[in-house]
Amino acid sequence: MYEEVILMKLGEVVLKGLNRRKLEDLLLKNIRTALRGCGNVNVRNSQSTMFVEFLDDEPDLDLAEAALKRVFGIMNLVRAYRGDYDWETLKAQTAEYVAPASNRAKTFKVDARRSDKKYPLASPQICMDMGEHLLNEFPHLTVDVHHPDVVVSIEIRDGFAYIHTNPEKGAGGLPAGTGGHGMLMLSGGIDSPVAGYVMAKRGLKISAVHFESPPYTSERAKEKVLTLAKKMSVYTGPVELWIVPFTEIQEAIRDTCKEDLFTVIMRRVMLKIACKLAREKDARCIITGESLGQVASQTLGAIQCTDQAADLPVFRPFIGTDKQDIVDIARTIDTFETSILPYEDCCTVFTPKHPKTNPHLEEVLEEEAKLDLDTLTKDLHLEFVKVKPWD
Ligand code: ATP
Ligand code: MG
Repeated sequence: MYEEVILMKLGEVVLKGLNRRKLEDLLLKNIRTALRGCGNVNVRNSQSTMFVEFLDDEPDLDLAEAALKRVFGIMNLVRAYRGDYDWETLKAQTAEYVAPASNRAKTFKVDARRSDKKYPLASPQICMDMGEHLLNEFPHLTVDVHHPDVVVSIEIRDGFAYIHTNPEKGAGGLPAGTGGHGMLMLSGGIDSPVAGYVMAKRGLKISAVHFESPPYTSERAKEKVLTLAKKMSVYTGPVELWIVPFTEIQEAIRDTCKEDLFTVIMRRVMLKIACKLAREKDARCIITGESLGQVASQTLGAIQCTDQAADLPVFRPFIGTDKQDIVDIARTIDTFETSILPYEDCCTVFTPKHPKTNPHLEEVLEEEAKLDLDTLTKDLHLEFVKVKPWD
């Protein structure tokens, strides 16, 4: 086994009120999935610390660390050296392992945790003795217990003494899948993939539905959505995606309903189909990238009329978020450049010149009733794709 491991801590908030065991098991599974492509690893959980041990001779720890930083539910993570129980050996190993960090620092402190109560030294003793040793080894250092440049941590547990320095921030949030299952309405735009990302961060497993209208929308537009789903899946885990053929329905709306209500009726029909699919796949909410006032279909009136078509809760995590702030997240999760590729989305097909910005529900329902929705939505042949981050 390789001498360095990666340790991860779960936030305590995470464990409150939730089934801790189930949560930790799901997190372990998500960690294993994220580490595909990082060689042979052993992932385990010991007293709310997650361990990744590397079974190859020359593992790529940078790659593993980067992957783990994208896993929700991890508060912080750190590389650690698996040191010896023998105190003299451990002191030498610690000085050697922390040398690069110590050389860059002026102040330090030692932090010790002893899960193994049989270990001959108690935590305060470990801190004192190790502190003294490091002061001798690195004469330029002084101790600062309040704001040290480097915290040298020694964790005594499971037969080893793990040595590490300052941990790094993890992705935070709750492990994806611990909060249930949601159906994301995924367009080719900027907002919806980011909406899937933030809801996965709150613990949802994400499936997705996309509406396409060939030949008005192109094969490249579909490819773009697949790329977005794949980029999102790096964070959410594998995503099941259903693609709904929407051309006939859109044509029927165009030919049957008042032009200025086209968009709101189309969005209602999308939402109805999404809810039906969600129920079939055991998802219990819909997620969209809508933001109040962003476009004509996202005024309060339009959203009220759209929402009424849903029989599941509709989560709109960005309803009160500025576009720029959504763009900032899109850039950090690397979906932005794909989202701005200029291919048609079905929402921009047949858009009326003057959509009603404040539609009234009664009028919308009256117009919608002219459609034979049962027949139009009865035998839709959905295309299914399982989108995995590693394919
Ligand atoms: P986005 O940037 O996410 O595309 P948008 O600003 O372009 O959003 P709209 O086109 O009005 O806004 O879409 C609002 C929401 O409706 C999207 O965030 C998405 O959740 C859903 N949506 C739009 N088009 C589609 C589509 N073709 N398939 C599935 N969902 C869609
Ligand atoms: Mg869009």
